Amino acid sequence: MRTRSFNEEDSGILYLVATPIGNLSDITLRALEILKSVDKIYAEDTRTSGVLLSHYGIKTKLESYHNFNQDEKTLDVVREIRNGMKIALISDAGLPVISDPGYKIVAKAREEGLRVSTIPGASAGISALIASGIAPMPYTFYGFLDSKSSKRKEELKDLKYLKSTLIFYEAPHRIHETLSDMEEILGDRYCCLARELTKTYEEFITGAISSINKEEYKGEMVVIVEGYKEDNTLVDDPNKKIDEMISLGYKPNDAIKEVAKMFNLDRKELYKNYTFYKNNRGE
Ligand code: SAM
Repeated sequence: MRTRSFNEEDSGILYLVATPIGNLSDITLRALEILKSVDKIYAEDTRTSGVLLSHYGIKTKLESYHNFNQDEKTLDVVREIRNGMKIALISDAGLPVISDPGYKIVAKAREEGLRVSTIPGASAGISALIASGIAPMPYTFYGFLDSKSSKRKEELKDLKYLKSTLIFYEAPHRIHETLSDMEEILGDRYCCLARELTKTYEEFITGAISSINKEEYKGEMVVIVEGYKEDNTLVDDPNKKIDEMISLGYKPNDAIKEVAKMFNLDRKELYKNYTFYKNNRGE
């Protein structure tokens, strides 16, 4: 099936409109025009979106569409588009559908051959990725891991051998345990915690997972984790073994030599990895 977003006929359409992820100015001119001109806006939280809309003097009718009413609302929204209405869907922040409701409407509208158009803009994951300094491609966007540690670890096991950079969303009250699970399952990889993007306290914390998991972080955050490499997962145990041997009185070079033999690793490579590990654990 082919559906053109911009055609002569005045049929209904669903616009997926990006809104700011913090800084109210991060919205496109086209997004504002569309939000002003559509028949109705569906928002995840009408109070949150009300603030944005009144900031830009937009008085379009606003209705809620969220995780708890999406099954029944999907049919209403699709019926409205079918009847010729122009509808915009927004979420509390960034792109609707991305770790936010909306997928069901889009899938149903596509199934019915209705027009769906995307109005791009900010999204926290991609914004964090490009500023992280970690290989941007290929990447796997995962969003939120499960809130229960046992399920989260299972999810991480499935991701462990992916070579692509991993993008996660996490809430501040869970970041400590999530980073601990990541260290345990993925190994002590290089990562970047990007918090409060586009806001006054925007900050990027980089280093080995263990090194950044030493303090409390507040606000909204994205975690970008380096993908699987033979060395970044393998070094996890050898590095700890080297630390252990140094603490037992070995000279660093002797410990590296011994551990290289123990794990059947190239001594020079292990030396390089251990130096990186040491420099990035924030001691
Ligand atoms: N739809 C949004 C998008 O396109 O990025 C994501 C919505 S999801 C429900 C909310 C999560 O996105 C937050 O818990 C946080 O992980 C991330 N996030 C949103 N805004 C952020 C910001 N300004 N800085 C860092 N992370 C942010």
